[in-house]
Amino acid sequence: MEVGGGSEECCVKVAVHVRPLIGDEKVQGCKDCVTVIPGKPQVQIGTHSFTFDHVYGSTSSPSWMFEECIVPLVDGLFLGYNATVLAYGQTGSGKTYTMGTGFKDGSQTGIIPQVMNALFSKIENLKHQIEFQLHVSFIEILKEEVRDLLDPTFLNKSDTASANTGKVNVPGKPPIQIRESSDGVITLAGSTEVSVSTLKEMGACLEQGSLSRATGSTNMNNRSSRSHAIFTITLEQMRKLNPVSGDGNPNDSMSEEYLCAKLHLVDLAGSERAKRTGSDGMRFKEGVHINKGLLALGNVISALGDEKKRKEGVHVPYRDSKLTRLLQDSLGGNSRTVMIACISPADINAEETLNTLKYANRAR
Ligand code: ADP
Ligand code: MG
Repeated sequence: MEVGGGSEECCVKVAVHVRPLIGDEKVQGCKDCVTVIPGKPQVQIGTHSFTFDHVYGSTSSPSWMFEECIVPLVDGLFLGYNATVLAYGQTGSGKTYTMGTGFKDGSQTGIIPQVMNALFSKIENLKHQIEFQLHVSFIEILKEEVRDLLDPTFLNKSDTASANTGKVNVPGKPPIQIRESSDGVITLAGSTEVSVSTLKEMGACLEQGSLSRATGSTNMNNRSSRSHAIFTITLEQMRKLNPVSGDGNPNDSMSEEYLCAKLHLVDLAGSERAKRTGSDGMRFKEGVHINKGLLALGNVISALGDEKKRKEGVHVPYRDSKLTRLLQDSLGGNSRTVMIACISPADINAEETLNTLKYANRAR
């Protein structure tokens, strides 16, 4: 029996999202093998029991996850804190549903559409005191190459140019590069950053990128199961400060405060490709179907979550993959991270579900 620890002050919060049995599984006569303990953030499968920060199952209200896990990150953005939300799990476990990366027909379910709503309603309330600028980027990492899902030239060319050859960049365009400035800020050189001022414009970016991701392959499910999709919102704020000096002199010059923070919303590659060997707590070892990003992410998050290691200044291996490199300034430090482990309740998925829970447990 495994029981996760319960330390509160960890910079990474872990939630589990158990989706209901879906059509296919019901047709196959699958049984529900996952038990959520009512009123506790605890989940059981077979003889294994795990405790996380939050567990959401069929009896949870759909808004709870957003309120408890995501709202604090959106609030943090306005205070200048970077944040990352990661959806982890095997293909079919509900990552895209949970993140809302699919964005069909303007649907409002999923985290990203809800984040957009929350952002714009906050901005509406604050816009008289603060000047805001919002930017969006949407990229995909496949086989350690970064592909721009908002590149307007991609939609037409992608099917022939990349799907068949396995190359992910449009011919003639320089590959997108991850850069780090001297103060540790990570930027993507060569990817499209769209300036948006309305909810509708931001929604259009999400929709365009989702479409681009889907048409970028002849086998959509296969592709999206192998790639990480990262929707990034950057919020810039210029706050006019009118300092009242000790003597209340109204002629004091106005000063300005500038804040910039970004929120990465990540629909990770299917975890069935990150097979793990070795006992619990060991480094993820390379297997046959390896996803470098998922392995590196597991090791980074585990290093961040281990308070003892952090105090000893243990090296956090951000450089081991494009994914962790890109998220480097938004994982750890002052940033807030939420990992949502998505699982299927079906007995046929029990082995992968257990792997997912172990991976998530290691992040705490
Ligand atoms: P993944 O992105 O992890 O491969 P999907 O998000 O595509 O998985 O989900 C697989 C299927 O399960 C889809 O048909 C989706 O609509 C359905 N599904 C996922 N999560 C839920 C949920 N919480 N409630 C109802 N259906 C869900
Ligand atoms: Mg998906």
